[in-house]
Order: sequence, then C-alpha cells, then structure tokens
Amino acid sequence: MGQVDEKVKTAVDLLEKSNYTVAFTGPGIFAESDLPREDHPEESLWKMVDPDEFTIHRYKEDPESFYEEGAPYFSMLYRLEPNNVHRVLAELEKRGLLKAVITQNIDGLHRKAGSKKVLKLHGTIRSATCTHCERKINIEDIIGDRDIEDVSFPLLCPGCGKPLKPDVVLPGEPLPPAYYKARDEGRQADLMLVIGPEPRFEQDLELPGECKNIVVIASEAVPFDRGARVVINGNPGKVMNLLLKELDRRK
Ligand SMILES: [Zn+2]
Repeated sequence: MGQVDEKVKTAVDLLEKSNYTVAFTGPGIFAESDLPREDHPEESLWKMVDPDEFTIHRYKEDPESFYEEGAPYFSMLYRLEPNNVHRVLAELEKRGLLKAVITQNIDGLHRKAGSKKVLKLHGTIRSATCTHCERKINIEDIIGDRDIEDVSFPLLCPGCGKPLKPDVVLPGEPLPPAYYKARDEGRQADLMLVIGPEPRFEQDLELPGECKNIVVIASEAVPFDRGARVVINGNPGKVMNLLLKELDRRK
C-alpha cells in the first residue's frame, strides 16, 4: 500500500492546487466492493445485455422483448446503494473542491449520495418517458413501496397506457445534451479525477480533452492511463477514502 499512499499524496497536492476539478466515473467504481457477484455492474453490463441488440430501434419495434432482456439489469442497478466513491465525491463537492461529476453510470447513485452537479452521459434508470405522449415519469413514483422484483415490466404510462422508455441513452440514439456539457466541463477543468471508467464507449474517451492533470483511479489499466499525471491502481472506494483522509490530515 506504500506506493498507493505516495500517489494519493500527489493526487491531493494536485487537488489542493487545482482551481477547477471535475470527476469522471464509470461502472468500475463498483470493483471489489462487497456486492454479491451478480450485482456487479462493471462485470454484468455486457453479460446481461448485448449492446448490439439493446438499441432504440429494438425498443420501438418490440418494447416487450426489450424489457424482457433489460428488466433484470435495470432491477439490479436499481437495488444498488451509493458506495465510498459516491460519498467521497459528494463530500468534495460540499467542500468546494469539486465542480462536477461526469458519469457513465445510469444508476442515479451520485445524486442519491448528495452530489449536486451530475452530468449523466448515458442517461438514468430513475426516470422514464412515454414515447407516445411524451409524459415524463419518476420511476420511484410508479414503484412506490414495492420491491423492484415485484414490479412487472414493461412499465406503462399512467397517461396513455403505452410502455415507458427508461431515460437511458440507448445505442442508436443521439448523444444527450449532458455529453456536450461534460465536454465543456472537461475543457474548463485543470484536474480530472477519472475513476473506474468503462473504455467501451469511444466518444467518452475524448472527454478529458486537453485537461493537463488527469488522475486515474481504477482496479486495472484503462486507456486514460496514457497521459495521466498519476495512475492509482486499486479498489476505487478504498483509494477515495485514503484521499479524503489525507485531505483531513492536512487541515
Ligand atoms: Zn403516454
């Protein structure tokens, strides 16, 4: 752990000097957490759903079969709770040390942990929109007190009864406004903390842009390592806790 400690200190040096820090997170923030194996988003993302099949065209053609495949994945994400990465990032924002979180994750957990400015590159499972009458629904309002397992899919629009499309950006859909906002944040940032990114989404790889200081925190090598000032390989939750501890030690 000694080497990790030194790198964490360097990361905190950069954080304290930075005028504009943003975080970029992906499904790898769940790596090595205490979740049951089937509840690891970073492992099951492409095992539970085939991205080539899970498209907007498929949804429009056959929402029932779309939900049949997607429901177990959405349910798994829905059950997750914020972990140490979410908590530390929310705390950094509260202390004025973090301007925004850009996330690839669709679970809505940054917001749940208390982060205020969250740019969701791939949308969220916490809300849905009717493609027929365009009504927007908070999923929690539909599920109420029920267990997610007891909910039958597809979820139907309370207005017109047609299936609701989750507000997740599906393959075949245009990039959402959040993507362009995230790009602006990346341009403004003089430090980006890249935590547990999923490299499969090519357009996301460009988001750190020309940011001069990139700190990568991930359990394994990722494309962002090239050009990073510091690469910390380890459990992202533990590393973020160390980072917060080091910040507190310097107070
Ligand atoms: Zn409707």
